Amino acid sequence: MKLYNTMSKKKEEFIPVEEGKVKMYVCGPTVYNFIHIGNARPMIVFDTVRRYFEYKGYDVNYVSNFTDVDDKIIKKANEEGVPADEISARYIAECKKDMEGMNIKPATTHPLATQEIDGMLDMISMLIEKGYAYEKNGTVYFRTRSFKDYGKLSHKNLDDLRSGNRSLLVSGEDEKEDPLDFVLWKPKKEGEPAWESPWSEGRPGWHIECSVMSKKYLGEQIDIHAGGEDLVFPHHENEIAQSEAANGKEFSKYWMHNAFLNIDNHKMSKSLGNFRTVREISEQYDLQILRFFMLSAHYRSPLNFSAELMEASKNGLERILNAADNLRYLSENAKEENMTGKEKENLDKTAQFVTAFEAAMEDDFNTADAIAAVFDLVKFANTTADAAGSKEYLGALYDLLVKLTDVLGLIVEKKEEILDEEIEALIEERQAARKAKNFARADEIRGELAAKGIVLLDTREGVKWKKA
Ligand code: AMP
Ligand code: ZN
Repeated sequence: MKLYNTMSKKKEEFIPVEEGKVKMYVCGPTVYNFIHIGNARPMIVFDTVRRYFEYKGYDVNYVSNFTDVDDKIIKKANEEGVPADEISARYIAECKKDMEGMNIKPATTHPLATQEIDGMLDMISMLIEKGYAYEKNGTVYFRTRSFKDYGKLSHKNLDDLRSGNRSLLVSGEDEKEDPLDFVLWKPKKEGEPAWESPWSEGRPGWHIECSVMSKKYLGEQIDIHAGGEDLVFPHHENEIAQSEAANGKEFSKYWMHNAFLNIDNHKMSKSLGNFRTVREISEQYDLQILRFFMLSAHYRSPLNFSAELMEASKNGLERILNAADNLRYLSENAKEENMTGKEKENLDKTAQFVTAFEAAMEDDFNTADAIAAVFDLVKFANTTADAAGSKEYLGALYDLLVKLTDVLGLIVEKKEEILDEEIEALIEERQAARKAKNFARADEIRGELAAKGIVLLDTREGVKWKKA
């Protein structure tokens, strides 16, 4: 299996640190709002990478954090006049609902930065002891020039970086020894969440959390560290400096980065007003379509989100779902018979689609080509399966389609049907739960309905619902 390593800028053969195991860390979102469709791209892409490793029989330990202490969270908390942890808890819960809708498996561990402060204090102390970090007026900085490999991931040269960053010297951190030094710990400002430390009552910098959580849950050396390409510099470069300086070991063998998702050919940004959350998309489309859309391009290619492309994805996914429905219907109604000789021959022919699917996935997770192989299987099934077929043959085709689409995280099995009366009853129960301030139950009901493809819309005229 080959994957592109940002570190070497080459596709490399995957060799695990420990045979049969994959230790993988994916930088997760900062939770101050609903996740946007850009955030969904690494989630979907690396969940698919995980699923493929599992399909190959690897035991995958998948860790993905939530950054739950950050300026943006604090700002939102101040705007709403609530504690910061209320904001982060709310958006972690919302993020998990979106993940479920996109059929993203929960990580083996989803650590929270605020629950790992002790580990951060330990690593920062160790870095100071080893001479890689220093304290000034309650702030602890990493001494970038002391880590000789700094820049190896982003292929940046320290001197170039330094000349490009001269302005940082006068930007309030003039106490730093070098403009490239970055913060490991900072003293609190009024109204901010803070923890005791040997240096000041304060909070950690962003980069240290990932070094600490990765070490705690996966060990000092991991197989794959991943995230969006904007994280290469400085976030991942800084993580490498911290982890390798502290542990004296190569941090991660492979570094994978997804390209960005744009919207109507523009960068997605709040100021342009073209920001789309996953939740908004879920009101218009089944999130399976969003997943299919994301996987229809290679993860290292920029991807453009547009209404037309979503419609094309909807049609594409429907072709696969229709074929699955058809096979299921035929096999449920077929006579209990074994395969004929001709059917056996046909089933043997499907091996070519599996080979093509695996070859695509083993070539740096080329999901676009893997989907093409699924379409070829669909075409083959549509032409060779009919009501005269044996249960054994029809069932085998169906199982194969489920097996391959499952690697992509696409659900082709039938959704549980739900009757209109049941929906109405659940909506009533949800309204009652809300009145009683039992928001957990109210959210649970929304989740139950979402899982059945029902979207609730809270309007001025009351709650409306529709099928996604
Ligand atoms: P953040 O919450 O900004 O730290 O982002 C969480 C994850 O989403 C990181 O891996 C980012 O690189 C990724 N990400 C953010 N915006 C986009 C985008 N427009 N396209 C693809 N990935 C993104
Ligand atoms: Zn990170």
